[in-house]
Amino acid sequence: MSQIISFSEDPELSLELAGGAAALAGRSGQKASTVIVDTPREPHPGQVILLTSDTPIGGNYELIAGALAGLVATKGPATFLIGATRLGRQVAAKLAVMLGMGVLSDVRDLRIEQEELTGVREAYAGRFKARVACVLPCIALVPPGGSEAEPGAPPSVEEVRVSGLRSRVKYLEVRPKSASSVDLKNAERIVAVGRGFKKKEDLILAEKLAKALGAVLGASRPLSSDLGWLGEEYHIGLTGIYVKPKLYVAIGISGQLQHVAGIKDSKVIVAINSDRQAPIFQVADYGIVGDLYVILPTLTRGLAP
Ligand SMILES: Cc1cc2nc3c(=O)[nH]c(=O)nc-3n(C[C@H](O)[C@H](O)[C@H](O)COP(=O)(O)OP(=O)(O)OC[C@H]3O[C@@H](n4cnc5c(N)ncnc54)[C@H](O)[C@@H]3O)c2cc1C
Repeated sequence: MSQIISFSEDPELSLELAGGAAALAGRSGQKASTVIVDTPREPHPGQVILLTSDTPIGGNYELIAGALAGLVATKGPATFLIGATRLGRQVAAKLAVMLGMGVLSDVRDLRIEQEELTGVREAYAGRFKARVACVLPCIALVPPGGSEAEPGAPPSVEEVRVSGLRSRVKYLEVRPKSASSVDLKNAERIVAVGRGFKKKEDLILAEKLAKALGAVLGASRPLSSDLGWLGEEYHIGLTGIYVKPKLYVAIGISGQLQHVAGIKDSKVIVAINSDRQAPIFQVADYGIVGDLYVILPTLTRGLAP
């Protein structure tokens, strides 16, 4: 009998994947387990494999992939569900090379059909859904919300110690991020800024609107990463945070599919953009075509008590 193994360093996503793996295993008559590295995480329902090593595995993707490959060597072939986080993507890529397996990226609605794993992924900024398949055993990268946590299953933990793990990547220094009050994942209202802003100082216009709306500030990748105007914790999209607020206001954001992938579960999307052809208007519920430098002060004034 083959097995389904899930892994994510993000505790919430790990729970979701455990539920997804259990559901998939139930339908295909396989065994499901969740991998946790280094130290137990409480509470975690279902079969947990605690992977430990002589040196901490930590957040080193090479060591995690090596440990997961070691698990296959001792326990036999496995299909992996890995959380589609930044670390998860690195782990999946390395593991795929080590085990010669295929990877399905950003898939939901997983099924096992005739020796294949199939899943659904978004295409063209969410306008199409593509069903993709990979010959078993393989790896699926599953985004947050791609499966359901299942609280019911009783916990059981098996410790597996792996030795001889090697990494060519050395972590020279690990520093905690500065404490941040940004909680985009759970925010009900988000005002997000993009490259339509000409300079960092102008973000004050969006901050004022966010304050008037009781919203949290977020950003497209150029602002949170390339330009560094805001920290990484503001980064929304495929390679950042997936959000699902009741209200998402996108200002000066063009709406490329990598950004839209992270916002499509928002209830209401409002877009402000000077280009009426901008793709963001195709996913927006309400659109304002115009210059953000004119619109934002007017909108904020209108919302003031
Ligand atoms: C592998 C990969 C992963 C990526 N992951 C992400 C991700 O997770 N998140 C993400 O956001 N991006 C991601 N990107 C980048 C993405 O492809 C886009 O480049 C990015 O989202 C564009 O950001 P933007 O909309 O802010 O900028 P732009 O595309 O430059 O858009 C700026 C918009 O502002 C409008 N504008 C300009 N001036 C004004 C004005 N005065 N008033 C109103 N509107 C104005 C313009 O019309 C334009 O539509 C990724 C790219 C790759 C290759």
